[in-house]
Amino acid sequence: MFKKIGIPRALLYYDYYPLWHTFFENVGAEIVLSDRTNNKILNDGVKYCINEACLPVKLFHGHIVNLIGKADCLFVPRMKSVARNEYICPKFTGLPDMIRSSVPNLPPIIDCEVNLRKSNAQLKEAFFEAGSFFTEDKARIWTAAQIAMEANDRYRKQVEGGRLPAQILENRQVPDNDGLRIAVIGHIYNLYDDYINRGLLGKLYENGARVFTPELIQGGIVDGNAAKLDKKVFWSFARRLMGAAMHFAEQKNVDGVIYLMSFGCGIDSFIAELCERRLRRQTDIPFYLIVLDEHSGEAGINTRLEAFIDMLKWRKRNDSDLSAHG
Ligand code: SF4
Repeated sequence: MFKKIGIPRALLYYDYYPLWHTFFENVGAEIVLSDRTNNKILNDGVKYCINEACLPVKLFHGHIVNLIGKADCLFVPRMKSVARNEYICPKFTGLPDMIRSSVPNLPPIIDCEVNLRKSNAQLKEAFFEAGSFFTEDKARIWTAAQIAMEANDRYRKQVEGGRLPAQILENRQVPDNDGLRIAVIGHIYNLYDDYINRGLLGKLYENGARVFTPELIQGGIVDGNAAKLDKKVFWSFARRLMGAAMHFAEQKNVDGVIYLMSFGCGIDSFIAELCERRLRRQTDIPFYLIVLDEHSGEAGINTRLEAFIDMLKWRKRNDSDLSAHG
């Protein structure tokens, strides 16, 4: 039996940490989180991961390296699908194999499969597999699973109610600004990892902006908007981003939209384009695309962000009828 489990503070940590944390705690595991992303984690990620991967996957490798020697085992679930008839990016499916083949001196990896494409029943198997590394008591594992699912539901409700938990925001307080209203669209692990996005949300808050992200919109609204597309987007996270963009385009309740895109991400490469086209067709809301990779410099992002904010302020003050698209 293992005692300490290492969980990388990367990728789906931002979506599922309350679920995982509650579950492992209730089966008696001690949880070790990797450090917040820093320069060493980025460098290790770039060193050990294949060049072709996107920045978030490279960073995940760095977080794995950060946990070596701190835990008896690492949690890298093989995530295939998190919703009926949908998939998530294939990189999540291959993540345990990528890690095993790229990072040396690893402790054992718990890589239970999560595939809810056909039904939620498979989740039970995943819980039993993961829990069996810490206890032989099946009743305890099932009780832990139920408590964890309740924690997950509370977390979703809290986020959709407009409040991001402190642990996700890394204990930063969100100011109640009433200046510009700016939507920031992107994968959750790009939005809330301050290192990866060069402190984007903090900079917007400092400029008095109120920030809206896809997670803060109720799931039903996102789903309803995404369903209006001619063809179903069958990648769960892409559907969330597209549904959010369509919501902002329909409500016209933001002054600007920023899309955070990972270089090398197939999903972002066309969802960003679809979001921009939708906004241009339906609104005159300015759109700003930031592409993140390991070479993104903070100064470059700052300069363009300041120009974007100045332009939004100017439009708000003077004439919002002016075209945002030239
Ligand atoms: S969805 Fe895009 S950013 Fe996320 S892991 Fe897949 S390729 Fe990388």
